[in-house]
Order: sequence, then C-alpha cells, then structure tokens
Amino acid sequence: MPIFSIENLSITFRDEQNAAGLHALGPVTFSVAEREFVCVLGPSGSGKSTLLRALAGLIQPSAGTIHFQNQQAAPRVGFVFQQATLMPWRSVLENILLPLEVEHLPAAQACQKAQEMAALVGLTGFENALPRDLSGGMAQRVALARALIHDPDLLLLDEPFGSLDALTREKMWGELSRLWQARQTTVLMVTHSISEALFLADRVLLLSARPGRIKLDLPVTLPRPRSEEMRYTPAFGALAKQLKQAIE
Ligand code: ADP
Ligand code: MG
Repeated sequence: MPIFSIENLSITFRDEQNAAGLHALGPVTFSVAEREFVCVLGPSGSGKSTLLRALAGLIQPSAGTIHFQNQQAAPRVGFVFQQATLMPWRSVLENILLPLEVEHLPAAQACQKAQEMAALVGLTGFENALPRDLSGGMAQRVALARALIHDPDLLLLDEPFGSLDALTREKMWGELSRLWQARQTTVLMVTHSISEALFLADRVLLLSARPGRIKLDLPVTLPRPRSEEMRYTPAFGALAKQLKQAIE
C-alpha cells in the first residue's frame, strides 16, 4: 500500500532572467510504500530539497499531483534539515517538545513524551543542555527526536548527516535504522553518499541533473539488520558500482 503517489510532478520557480521560469524538478512519477525507507541521490541543484518541500506541502506543484493514501486527514510529516535548526535559547527537552506545544498538548504530558524521545535517540542526561553545548551529532539527534515526537506518518530527511564527521555519521546510520524499525515510520531521505543510501534504504532513487528526473530506481536487496561488515561484501559492492555508473 503506497503512503503517497506522485504523478508527473514538475516544479518550476519564478525566475527574473527567464520568462519560462526555472524548471527545478520533474516530471517525476513514483510512489513509496508504507514503512518503506527510500533514499534520494542526485547532483546538487537537481531538485531533491524541492521534492521534499513539495511533499511537506511547503510548495505547490507546478504540474502533476501528489496523492496521499489517507485523504481524510493531512499526513503527519516530520522534517529534518541539513542543519539541526534548534532554538538556541531552549534546552534539549524544550526543543524536542516544540511540535507538541504547537499542538497544545498539556505540558506534563508533552514533557513526558519529550523525555521518552530523548531516551530513544540516546540523549538521556542531556535534557537540560543548551544547543551550544552539544556536538553536531547530538544536535542532529535532537532534531530527529523533534521530528519523531508527533509520530509522523512520513519522515522527510534532507541530508541530515551532511555536516557530521565520518565516524559520527556511521553511528547515526545505526541509530536511524533502529528508530525507523522501532517506530515503523516511512522515510524519504536525501543524501549525497552512496554508502549511506545502501546502508539504510530499501530503495534508492537517483535523480538526473536539473530538472531532476528519475534516472534509476534501484531496490536494495541487502539483508537486515545491516552491519559495518556488510559494506565489504560483493553484494554491497555490486550495488555501489551500479549506482556509481548511473551517476557518471
Ligand atoms: P538540491 O536539493 O537537489 O540541491 P534544490 O531542490 O535545492 O536542489 O534546488 C533545485 C533548483 O531550484 C536549484 O537550481 C535552486 O537554485 C532552485 N530553487 C530552489 N528553491 C528555489 C526558490 N524558492 N526559488 C527559486 N529557485 C529555487
Ligand atoms: Mg538540497
């Protein structure tokens, strides 16, 4: 069952220099199944962030449609950006419970839920810390917890680990895999890293240069749970090679 289906989606931005506008994305057609983990790869400027923003309802399609499975209720979407975008004057816990404040959940209940989320992403003991005292990896954990707190149907991740060092990044892969499995959510994640995509995803969508179109839709058939060692197997190598060739 698809959680959403996109059909012939195109996005064109207004452009001072060009009356026809800037064609950023599409047309693209694809759907994502419930609980699927899909990674989106593609060159800079191919419309990856634009695709995520359209799915979050932040921008309107110029052509084509985005169809969510549940037409009765707007889907709950969690969004994590490349930078953690935390509020610097609020503690870890206060940042995590921000979406619940917006939903006007009673304070005690919100606080307890935020504490559970902090524990889930491994931030127990840091609830009262301020963003300036956190490492990059910890700040991204806060952003993940904040995105997960209202149990999103769909988690949109835009290069969430792009600014992290290699070791922290690999540790976050394990965390994210575990969270995705525990929460049974659907994930659409933009990344620049072939290894990251193959470690995490059920499927990789490769976009062409602007305007981004789907160049390859590659199922990642590697068994789960995935380990560090798996990255040195022939099966992993073959998929990586296939992606690399399609990119070049
Ligand atoms: P990616 O995330 O793949 O690097 P983006 O989706 O951010 O690419 O952008 C795709 C193209 O659309 C780029 O050329 C970018 O400059 C342009 N673009 C993105 N957002 C806007 C906007 N709000 N107005 C005008 N142009 C935009
Ligand atoms: Mg982007």
